[in-house]
Amino acid sequence: MKKIAILGSTGSIGTQTLEVVRANKDIEVTALAAGSNIDLLEKQIREFSPKIAAVWNEEKAKELKDRVRDLDIRVESGMDGLLAVATELGAEIVVTAVVGMIGIRPTIAAMNAGKDIALANKETLVTAGHIIMSLAKEKHVRILPVDSEHSAIFQSLNGETGNKIHKILLTASGGPFRGWTREQMKGVQVEDALKHPNWTMGRKITIDSSTMVNKGLEVMEARWLFGVEMDQVQVVVQPQSVIHSMVEYEDGAVIAQLGTPDMKLPIQYALYYPERRFLAGDRLDFAKLAQITFEAPDFENFHGLSLAYKAGRRGGTLPTVFNAANERAVQKFLDREIGYLTITDMIEAAMEHHTVKENPTVEEILAAEQETYDFIESRW
Ligand code: NDP
Ligand code: MG
Repeated sequence: MKKIAILGSTGSIGTQTLEVVRANKDIEVTALAAGSNIDLLEKQIREFSPKIAAVWNEEKAKELKDRVRDLDIRVESGMDGLLAVATELGAEIVVTAVVGMIGIRPTIAAMNAGKDIALANKETLVTAGHIIMSLAKEKHVRILPVDSEHSAIFQSLNGETGNKIHKILLTASGGPFRGWTREQMKGVQVEDALKHPNWTMGRKITIDSSTMVNKGLEVMEARWLFGVEMDQVQVVVQPQSVIHSMVEYEDGAVIAQLGTPDMKLPIQYALYYPERRFLAGDRLDFAKLAQITFEAPDFENFHGLSLAYKAGRRGGTLPTVFNAANERAVQKFLDREIGYLTITDMIEAAMEHHTVKENPTVEEILAAEQETYDFIESRW
């Protein structure tokens, strides 16, 4: 039996992880954490019987505790709850599927407890990549990518031990506004931005995909995961989302991973690496697949992607500011407080206002996050 804990079990990645568990009979779920959706969490508890459950919201945690009185389970709340789930004794792998920088402390705690990480929560690597990657080495734990592009890169690196990566070709669908000008994007409403052409995901990452900020976060994620420079990661727009990413080696050979867009593949691959298991679902049919097309990304109209490269190249606390400003801006856009293009305006203003600290500690990263939120509140 493989034992796993899931941070963010009620979300898009969390529920698909549980689908993988359901389809395979040899994974035990020992701990689950969610934000506030206790209706779904209760169902998951009754189906998967974890030893610990955590709910961020204290009131909801109390309510859940009451609802599951008949079961032998510990229910915790807040950051202590997330940390308890991340370090649950029995788990070998922790799936980090919470959204946002909230994932940093639990991920570090899980690694300190010797757990491998199946990492979906890219914001953690973007902001604290230097800390996470060196801790992984020190603690001899693995960071197994769940993000589809990074899983594709990871799969394209199989058997290439010792061979240097020349370039990473990170594919992007381009999102619902591919080909649009900023002028056309002015009037974009929440509903428009939540319609992704190929993937069904949580609300925050769906907005990030529409602005291509998600791709920017992924460039930084790739740089840490695979130990390359920002400029070795090249974004290639591939609108059909068939090629999930590629690696170019020094002799010019390009190795890619292809498949239908289904997050269960990278999730299952991370949980069973290096073994491949049967996965039900649609397969690529090359006879039906009319075409696979490529484009260069539009850095001018998708300013968020340019800002991500700027933040990643500069490093220090700047990626944290990029990420925190985006988290707050996306929330404000979803709450209909700001217009669509203000998302990137906020990121840019916060980056310009910030004085970069090199090689930040976790405390300094969290302080830069708070400073960014305060700056945004003072300006918008
Ligand atoms: P969702 O919004 O669908 O789910 C987020 C999960 O985190 C929910 O279970 C939510 O609980 C929980 N959560 C939120 N805040 C807290 C908190 N403070 N404490 C505990 N739990 C919390 O997001 P996604 O699944 O789409 O994304 C998760 C991560 O994976 C993100 O970092 C995203 O970038 C990354 N990712 C997602 C992909 C996808 O296909 N969805 C693809 C690649 C990467 P509740 O339901 O109770 O609010
Ligand atoms: Mg991705």
